[in-house]
Amino acid sequence: MEHFHDDVIRQVAERDVRFIRLWFCDIAGTLKSIAISPADLETAFTEGIGIDGSTIEGLTRSYESDMLLRPDPGTFEVLAWRGDSDATARMMCDVLTPDGEPAASDPRRVLKEALSAAEKQGLELYAHPEIEFYLFQEHFQPGHKLRPIDNAGYFDHVHRGQGQDFRRSAIQNLEAMNIQVEFSHHENGPGQNEIDLRYADALTTADNIVTLRTVVKEVALSMGQVATFMPKPMIEHPGSGMHTHLSLFQGGKNAFHEPGAEYGLSRTGRQFIAGLLRHAPEYCAVTNQWVNSYKRLWGAQEAPSYVCWGHNNRSALVRVPFHKPTKGTSSRVEFRGADSATNPYLAFAVLLAAGMAGIEGEYELPEGAEDAVWELTENERRSMGIEPLPTDLFRALETFESSDLMARTLGEQVFEFFLRDKRNEWNRYREQVTEYELASTFSRI
Ligand code: GLU
Ligand code: MG
Ligand code: MG
Repeated sequence: MEHFHDDVIRQVAERDVRFIRLWFCDIAGTLKSIAISPADLETAFTEGIGIDGSTIEGLTRSYESDMLLRPDPGTFEVLAWRGDSDATARMMCDVLTPDGEPAASDPRRVLKEALSAAEKQGLELYAHPEIEFYLFQEHFQPGHKLRPIDNAGYFDHVHRGQGQDFRRSAIQNLEAMNIQVEFSHHENGPGQNEIDLRYADALTTADNIVTLRTVVKEVALSMGQVATFMPKPMIEHPGSGMHTHLSLFQGGKNAFHEPGAEYGLSRTGRQFIAGLLRHAPEYCAVTNQWVNSYKRLWGAQEAPSYVCWGHNNRSALVRVPFHKPTKGTSSRVEFRGADSATNPYLAFAVLLAAGMAGIEGEYELPEGAEDAVWELTENERRSMGIEPLPTDLFRALETFESSDLMARTLGEQVFEFFLRDKRNEWNRYREQVTEYELASTFSRI
């Protein structure tokens, strides 16, 4: 650790860093930031920087408002968009209680605990997310129709398109922060884009996702656009998913890989998928945490609505992608349920816990589904044992609440806060009288 601290202090001097932002997330996954000066770095590493946590939702209980932020020196990066002189850097932080214990409410800690439970079995989670989002010409204003920045579709090359300039600049900024991008392209919806990050360990990936959201928003604003990771901003267009490829490594080897097995997938891999499927109704409230998330899940357009897995099936919740025999050990599972507005720390923690439950309980993987499940009849789905995902946040919270696995994985404080906060969100939503209701009912009766 000492050595990392020195390295940060040296970089701060060499790269003319004037501000160091300490980043952490609340339970919803919203990025929080406080800037310190280089003179306070040493204290930040040794004692932590005190913050008043009482204003941050879910971070503290009312009787413990003082918290400490301790930066993780391995996450030191200069923010490219802030320029080279009088530069600004960031470090991701762990949140601590005043006596230096990890704060129960810190989502990064929740993920670290889930990772260390898997490490006890010698397993390490790696992830590669495909992050979708929309670019609009301006912020949402009540009564105004959203205007995407273009009218293009999947993989379209738009000549002189603003989307290309945007992606180029976003990727340059990400790479300058050591966040490796695998590829990027225009997605299906107008103004919709996708950026895929390279495989990395789950904690780094969660840090990278939070960073990517900020980079994307900053770059969009610098180009006079507005980016949103909202799951389903427009009824008639696809939502923004965050498909995530997952694999477990054991002693440097991919534990999901078995040469010659179907799809190159090992028994461990099959059990992991079985865990993802069995516990989907319980963790859905976390991977899809907003009222709006369920508009995506039930809005078709390649989002999954049913709990099943498949190979060439883009309507499945879990897909085992094509496995190139020449690539040898790239076996992985693609979880298609999460949306781009999830808290990645909590999402990875609950997905890992579900998969580990499958491995530890030696769950049997049900038959795969190769047909588009949306097109089957209700009876066909039932006879195949294919259950729906929760249809709204209310139902998702019901199964979440009764899940021991969720309570254990998130810890009492996060579990309870999440439940309370999300129930409030649901109740506020339920009170609304929408334009749809007025248009469809007002003059009808
Ligand atoms: N936008 C789709 C979703 O909501 C995914 C499209 C794709 O297959 O990349 O999950
Ligand atoms: Mg996509
Ligand atoms: Mg995908």
